[in-house]
Amino acid sequence: MSESQYDVAILGAGNAAFSAALAAQEHGAKVVMIEAAPLEEAGGNSRYTAGAIRFAHDGLQDLTTVLDLTQDEIDNADFGTYTSDQFYDDLFRLTQYRADPDKAEMLVTKSLETVQWMKSRGIKFQPSYGRQAFKVDGKYRFWGGLCVETWGGGEGLIELETKAAEENGIDILYETRGLSLIYDDEKVTGIKVKHKGKVRNINVKAVILASGGFEANSEMRTRYLGPGWELVKVRGTRFNTGGGIQMALDIGAMPHGNWSGCHAVGWDLNAPETGDLTVGDNFQKHSYPLGIMVNADGKRFVDEGADFRNYTYAKYGREIMNQPGMMAWQVFDQKVTGMMRDEYRIRRVTKATGNTLEELAPKLEGVDPDQFLKTVNEYNVAVQTDVAFNPAVLDGRGTTGLDVPKSNWANVLDEPPYEAYAITCGITFTFGGLRTDDNGSVLDMELAPIPGLYAAGELVGGVFCFNYPGGTGLMSGAIFGRLAGNSAGALAKAG
Ligand SMILES: Cc1cc2nc3c(=O)[nH]c(=O)nc-3n(C[C@H](O)[C@H](O)[C@H](O)COP(=O)(O)OP(=O)(O)OC[C@H]3O[C@@H](n4cnc5c(N)ncnc54)[C@H](O)[C@@H]3O)c2cc1C
Repeated sequence: MSESQYDVAILGAGNAAFSAALAAQEHGAKVVMIEAAPLEEAGGNSRYTAGAIRFAHDGLQDLTTVLDLTQDEIDNADFGTYTSDQFYDDLFRLTQYRADPDKAEMLVTKSLETVQWMKSRGIKFQPSYGRQAFKVDGKYRFWGGLCVETWGGGEGLIELETKAAEENGIDILYETRGLSLIYDDEKVTGIKVKHKGKVRNINVKAVILASGGFEANSEMRTRYLGPGWELVKVRGTRFNTGGGIQMALDIGAMPHGNWSGCHAVGWDLNAPETGDLTVGDNFQKHSYPLGIMVNADGKRFVDEGADFRNYTYAKYGREIMNQPGMMAWQVFDQKVTGMMRDEYRIRRVTKATGNTLEELAPKLEGVDPDQFLKTVNEYNVAVQTDVAFNPAVLDGRGTTGLDVPKSNWANVLDEPPYEAYAITCGITFTFGGLRTDDNGSVLDMELAPIPGLYAAGELVGGVFCFNYPGGTGLMSGAIFGRLAGNSAGALAKAG
């Protein structure tokens, strides 16, 4: 490899990196991607996703620019609309009005056009029937602002992005870890990398950092998220260890956003330490709005039906981590098991069943059985059975008089056999990162762009805080990746 054959180097080979690479290549730049993982594990967290992608749309007229729908599908589904105003509302409400307004504006206003651009670059999309719709009165009703996923989920996304990169002359160096930026005190002129024990410099006109957060680094998790976080399971790639963030901080980049915050969910109690691509995201257990969750004391601890799953799941991982033993059990009865997500039907699942609640109670390992039975009895009498149940809307079928209410989709637990699933906290990605401007340039401590340095994806700070609307990670990676790629490509070709 000649050391200066490239214009733009991109750290990482996940969705943000590919979006950046394809955009830079549109400017005629010669692009190289530097990926720490071997090919079999490459694709970052993006590969672990279901490919759910959130964008603003005004219904079928917009959706059909992205999806190839048959007339039958159009007749049998209610996709609804998800306006820009709704996207803004969700983003600001969930982040407690702390999302960086400039980032939020770009995320919302560029979302549809970026999905259309992805399609033009060979990425395929499909309706998210399995996870984002319930069949009500014979029609699929989509809910929660999310109705599209990438074809083939995260695997399909990475497969097609890799194909697009290869077809456009973009080189991908696998098993190559970025170590540090080459910086002459004024501008970034390249990146130092290590491949199979050998260190070398790749000299370029621009570097784009798209190497994810620090969720797979237990030391950084403890330092920034707090005690206990070193013990949680990592849902995705083991390679996102914060290297890209660190190398930028080392040359004086400005940190930004919610450094003590992260996206974390309920995840199988016996899942491995980091993600397993043969299982993908299926260790997650996201049907809790249909049932109840109890902790080791046998008590409920969150409102399982506070909102659509998309708006609560990313913050409930932290709630589970804060319970005794960092664990909980989800409990369901036969009224809802047919509506539960596919991830409950995998082989590697920590499950208990019982023909009566009394039979189930001692099987919930680690849980106080007497208090569990008391909790369920109190819950059952508190359910507002006079309100109709409808999982596709916020149905208001809640509980009355409980210390921990359930606000929607409450059902009496009385149809055996009962099913229960043990979960712990699984971290998805971290919220804190680098500060970037409207061109995707990384800013220094004086808030001036560091020439030649751009960033995109999980490692950009300021986008999410406290919580997160499902499906926004891929959208954010694509928008800010494309932005950084455009800026770096233009800079590289300017001379
Ligand atoms: C199980 C799971 C399910 C999810 N589901 C969804 C979903 O359905 N929809 C959604 O929008 N979001 C989802 N997310 C979140 C989503 O994955 C991320 O927000 C998004 O993919 C981040 O993209 P990225 O390109 O920034 O990072 P990544 O895709 O993680 O890519 C970062 C890349 O950088 C590489 N890297 C790291 N450090 C170095 C280094 N020093 N040198 C070289 N390479 C390095 C890594 O190997 C990796 O390939 C999910 C995440 C997980 C874990």
